[in-house]
Amino acid sequence: MDEIKKWQNICKAKKIVETLNKKHFKASYADTLEDAKSALLSMITEGSSVAIGGSDTLNQMGIVDILRNGNYNFFDRYQKLPFNPDIVEIHRKSLTADYLITGTNAITKNGELVNTDCTGNRVAPMIFGPRNVIIVAGVNKIVDNIDSAFKRIRDIAPMNSKRIKHETPCVETGYCVDCDCKKRICNFTTIIHNGIKFEGRIKIIIIADEIGY
Ligand code: SF4
Repeated sequence: MDEIKKWQNICKAKKIVETLNKKHFKASYADTLEDAKSALLSMITEGSSVAIGGSDTLNQMGIVDILRNGNYNFFDRYQKLPFNPDIVEIHRKSLTADYLITGTNAITKNGELVNTDCTGNRVAPMIFGPRNVIIVAGVNKIVDNIDSAFKRIRDIAPMNSKRIKHETPCVETGYCVDCDCKKRICNFTTIIHNGIKFEGRIKIIIIADEIGY
């Protein structure tokens, strides 16, 4: 990567870590995706129950294969069984996991986390349920304010819809048309303003790189 670009990413990452810690999250800095992966795994006690939220950043880390190694009670939303697993039941169990690992759609410069879900199985447990929430995000998730976060989410949603193969109009157009179809992925939006209620519960690893979308 371009050295100057990396320098700017490092500055952005360090600054947002400082802001997030002031907001009572437990934020930490990672230089690379690989460093973030090591930090993430060091936070999870073996034998504990783990759920994950859909995330391109986590996919790039290969986290699902690691969680399938038998050392964790993994609520595996991606498992392939001879019959279709009841995915909603896995999402319900995930609400009580020891750890939820997820990405985030946007982080404001003021330290708010903004997310939109199709089902709510990611945004609901980010707020309450799992004893620990570990969020991994690249600096590309940082936006100026909440309005910019909503705009970011609207801009990236068609890519997420294409990634998860939903038949939504934006998969054809490449941009949001505020659809009204059953497969719509933008149904629940949350803002987490701070981590003060359960201090230390939400841990955030900021990577000094652009990862995922
Ligand atoms: S509201 Fe509909 S069209 Fe817009 S991004 Fe979401 S799924 Fe796509």
